[in-house]
Amino acid sequence: TRILGIEGTAWAASAALFDTESDTLRIESDAYEPDSGGIHPREAAEHMAEAIPQVIETVLEHAIETAPEDGTADNRAAIDAVAFARGPGLGPCLRIVATAARALAATLEVPLVGVNHMVAHLEIGRHESGFEDPICLNASGANAHLLAFRNGRYRVLGETMDTGVGNAIDKFTRHIGWSHPGGPKVEQAAKDGEYIDLPYVVKGMDFSFSGIMSAAKDAVDDGHAVEDVCFALQETIFAMLTEVAERALSLTDCDELVLGGGVGRNARLREMLETMCADRGAEFYAPEPRLLGDNAGMIAVLGAKMYEVGDTLSVENSRVDPNFRPDQVPVTWRSPPTL
Ligand code: ATP
Repeated sequence: TRILGIEGTAWAASAALFDTESDTLRIESDAYEPDSGGIHPREAAEHMAEAIPQVIETVLEHAIETAPEDGTADNRAAIDAVAFARGPGLGPCLRIVATAARALAATLEVPLVGVNHMVAHLEIGRHESGFEDPICLNASGANAHLLAFRNGRYRVLGETMDTGVGNAIDKFTRHIGWSHPGGPKVEQAAKDGEYIDLPYVVKGMDFSFSGIMSAAKDAVDDGHAVEDVCFALQETIFAMLTEVAERALSLTDCDELVLGGGVGRNARLREMLETMCADRGAEFYAPEPRLLGDNAGMIAVLGAKMYEVGDTLSVENSRVDPNFRPDQVPVTWRSPPTL
């Protein structure tokens, strides 16, 4: 099976070809980088409209070059389906990507597959790790969730009660005048920092970042060294995520954890999760960096699983959903859970 995936929920205009036979993934991305401030929805949509045709064209050319000679498929690129991210994300960006996907599927005369972006962040870790039934921690820009598969759906065991984890970090860096995205800069600065006290907010299986962000901004305004605040911010936020991930493993009696989302690029977060898992005899897996932040590779990989079980969409039913939650997705591509 060969699936062309398209991602464009916010900042990454991305296209990918996933070939299940050779298990190869070619990803082409073009990121929107704001001149100042954070992600502006209108500017992000303008970037999406400009960048999407080019990334798709590059991947299509690659698909044509690598098309099998036997010519079983009836298009030159030998693509079996077009998968696209239906949500969650910024409405104007999603609509551009969906329009591109519908047009491409119609031109190639292949089915359309609508992928939930959060479930794709999770499934890429499961696909790459080979874990059967892991708990997943999605630590991305606009979201933070703990998910487990039960009774045909990915259930949200715990989540942020306010902003996503990456967005929280980015709001802090915006306050101190650093350009977007702030996460990698905080990681760098934290290397020279020392701990200061910041609020730690975990309530049951849920957690909150807004109080800690205000406290971090105040700490810098009050004269604390930026490096110290960055260090404390990472230690506190990642400890919160690690605590809830551990509780999720414990409550479900699961011994596999996968990480998803752009904040998963942070080595300190991976180290904390790795240590926690090792201490309890669980296995931990984080995909390679290119598959952690938004990318069309994860859309193509989940798109292939959905296509193979016939989970496709008619154009009439292909509307986007900016608030598409992971637990709204009927998981058609997995056999029933063991529990
Ligand atoms: P979502 O996937 O929830 O829709 P998104 O598209 O913004 O949100 P991603 O692409 O998964 O999310 O992640 C982007 C976020 O990752 C940004 O907030 C960025 O600051 C953060 N990030 C990237 N690298 C690092 C890092 N090394 N440490 C911490 N955060 C990081």
